[in-house]
Amino acid sequence: MTTPGPATRIIHNRRHQDQHGSPYSPVYNTTTYRFENTQALLDVIGKRTEGNLYTRWGTNPTIQELEQGLAGLENAEAGLAFASGMAAISATLLAHGRKGIVCVGDLYGGTQEFLINHCQALGISVTFLFREQQNELAEHLNAPGKLVYFETPANPNMRLLDIGKLSEVAHQHGALVAVDNTFASPINQKPLELGADLALHSASKYLGGHSDITAGALMTSQQLAEPVAAWRKNLGQLLAPETAALLSRSLRTLPVRIRQHNENALAVARAMEKHPKVTKVHYPGLSSFDDHELATQQMTGFGGMLSIDVTGGREAAANVADNLKVFLLATSLGGVESLVSQPCATSHYGLSQQEREQRGIGEGMLRLSVGLEDAEDIIADLQQALA
Ligand SMILES: *Cc1c(COP(=O)(O)O)cnc(C)c1O
Repeated sequence: MTTPGPATRIIHNRRHQDQHGSPYSPVYNTTTYRFENTQALLDVIGKRTEGNLYTRWGTNPTIQELEQGLAGLENAEAGLAFASGMAAISATLLAHGRKGIVCVGDLYGGTQEFLINHCQALGISVTFLFREQQNELAEHLNAPGKLVYFETPANPNMRLLDIGKLSEVAHQHGALVAVDNTFASPINQKPLELGADLALHSASKYLGGHSDITAGALMTSQQLAEPVAAWRKNLGQLLAPETAALLSRSLRTLPVRIRQHNENALAVARAMEKHPKVTKVHYPGLSSFDDHELATQQMTGFGGMLSIDVTGGREAAANVADNLKVFLLATSLGGVESLVSQPCATSHYGLSQQEREQRGIGEGMLRLSVGLEDAEDIIADLQQALA
C-alpha cells in the first residue's frame, strides 16, 4: 500500500487496539498510575520498561495518542500538546529563544506581550523587524543559537512571509526557525517541509474547529521537542485528557473542514472584490493580492481567513459588523461558525492609528473568519450588512 494521505492517517490514528473493539480509544482521565510493586515502579522511573508515571509529565495515553496525530499532520517526528496556543508558544520561546529571538512581521498580540513583558524582562534579547525589513534578518543573527520567529499568513492583513527563504538565511547563521502556523492550518501549509524547525498552533482555532476547546500544539523533531517538553512539565502547561480526546475527535474532520473553509472563503473574497463599498480584499487566494504568487508556492490551500476594507472608515465598518446576522461579532477564528471582528477595536486596539497604518490595518478593516455555513448565506449576509 502507498503511504496513506493525511485524512486516512488522522482518522485511523490510534496507539492501541481497544480490547472491546471500539474503533476509538477510551479517555484516560487519570493523573496517576498504579504499579504491582516497587520494582515495577523503579523500572519505569529508570526507563528500563515503558510506562506512565504522572499525567502532568505528558505521559497519558489519551494525550500521547493526540500527539501522534498532531505529528502526523505535519509529517513531523514529534508532536506536543498544550493547554493553549500561548502555552505552546511560551514554552517554545523559553526552551529555544534563550540566546536571542528575532521576530519578523506582525505577531499575535499575546505572543508580542509575552516577548516584551516577559522574555525581555528575563534578559532575553528580542528584536522586532517589520516585514519590509526582512532582508536585514542576517544582520541580526550575529551570534549562533538564535531563534527566528514569525507568522504567515499574518493577522489581520494576511501578508505572507517566505518560509523557505527565511529558513535558509536563519540556518546559514546557525539560528532555528519557529513558525506560528495557526492561520493556515497543517492542511494548507507545512512549515517543517518548507524548511522551518518548529511549527506552532493555537489548537483553539482550526485544529479544534468548533470554538469549544482551548489548546495548543508544537510539531518538530524529537530532539527539539525534548527541551520544550521539560518546560511544559515544570510550568504545568499540559492540557486535560478530556480536552485531548475532544481535540483528537476534531482532528478527524480537519482535512474536510479546511477544504470547505478554503472554498467558502474564496467565494466570499471574490464576491467582496466586486462590491462597490469594499475598497480592498486581503486574501492570499485572490490573484489581486500582493503575496498571491508566494501563496501558490508555499500553501496548498488559501485558508478561511480574510480581511476587507470598507468605505466610510471606523464607524461604517462597526456598522457593518453590527448588522451582520450569520457572522457573530467575536474575536477568535477557525470555528464552524463565521466570526467578524474589527481589528482597530479588538486585536489592535492598543496600538496608535499610526502604528496600525504601518501594519496595513485601516480603521475600516473588518476581519472575517469564514465558517462552514452555506457560502450563499455568508455572502448574502455581508451584502445586506454592507447595504
Ligand atoms: C489565538 C492565537 C494564538 C494564541 O492561542 P490561544 O489558544 O488563545 O492561547 C497564537 N497565535 C495565533 C496566530 C492565534 O490566532
